[in-house]
Amino acid sequence: MVTLTEEILSIVIPCYNEEEVIAETINRLLSVCDAGKGCNFELIFVDDGSRDRTRELLRTFAEKDSRIRVIGFARNFGHQIAVTAGIDAARGDAVVLIDADLQDPPEVIPDMISKWREGFDVVYGIRTERAGESRFKLATARTFYRVLNKLSDVPIPLDTGDFRLLSRAVADTLRAMPERDRFLRGMVSWAGFRQTALPYKRSGRFAGKSKYPLRKMLHFAIDGILSFSTKPLQMSIGLGMIAATIALIGIIYAIALRLFTNIWVEGWTALMIAVLFLGGAQLLCVGILGEYIGRIYNEMKKRPMYVTDEYIGFTQKGAVFSRSPERTEQ
Ligand code: UDP
Ligand code: MG
Repeated sequence: MVTLTEEILSIVIPCYNEEEVIAETINRLLSVCDAGKGCNFELIFVDDGSRDRTRELLRTFAEKDSRIRVIGFARNFGHQIAVTAGIDAARGDAVVLIDADLQDPPEVIPDMISKWREGFDVVYGIRTERAGESRFKLATARTFYRVLNKLSDVPIPLDTGDFRLLSRAVADTLRAMPERDRFLRGMVSWAGFRQTALPYKRSGRFAGKSKYPLRKMLHFAIDGILSFSTKPLQMSIGLGMIAATIALIGIIYAIALRLFTNIWVEGWTALMIAVLFLGGAQLLCVGILGEYIGRIYNEMKKRPMYVTDEYIGFTQKGAVFSRSPERTEQ
């Protein structure tokens, strides 16, 4: 019989320029690990090409504590890819994803573990409160999740982030999904299994600035919608049809003026409107098509999803493209 103490729990922490918070994050995570819950823990930090002292600090901590493993990226690949690398390398019976900035309190992890032991495969944190976020971010996030749900083919729970626990089965499912434009919370919903919510209060960042500027946020939102829905394509057909109908009416009107009246020079206004409207609608549809085609191109190149230049706590050294690094046993 498997005793509880043999269970391994991996915690995946993506870090990008987090020198100000990393020590505190490690301390708080380690105290959760020390409190036990009958698990062996491993902390997998993924340094997403930080340009500050994050890597150095991680190295120092990893030397002191064998539970800490580090994957270093050769450049910044983005949050979702960093989390993916962590999941790829994790060997826990369950994997917890948590941000490095302590916005997601590590103290909630034991509650996630309890839910997992009750038999759930995904325990996702639902933010009941979000401290320290600008009103703009709150409003856009709220709208985004609602629009996404209207468009998406799979229901994605509202107001959740990537702070969640995944069972081994779900982690393996994610590893089997090769897409490059990753929107993990949607992919987890897509996977199915028994999922449950765990409400928690999201705090403000412990220190430092958000590493998600508006540009990255927008890209992330577009990824979310385009990876989980082909509705924008259908919408562009609808828009095209409306534009064509209006244009047709305009054409009939223009011909009628030309044939039956002698005031047809005045049709210029209608003509301009038709040209501008059609032009706009066409550009929009081409743009939507372009977004999808760009993504097809991206997938088709079949490049490795990320490039690593350092592994600590794994036997690999140097650049490794494999999505399953070999590890040193602890
Ligand atoms: N992050 C990352 N790569 C990036 C941007 C962010 O690994 O390119 C990490 C970051 O270090 C943090 C988490 O992703 O642990 C969430 O980022 P952040 O807190 O800046 O986003 P916000 O909470 O403001 O949305
Ligand atoms: Mg944050």
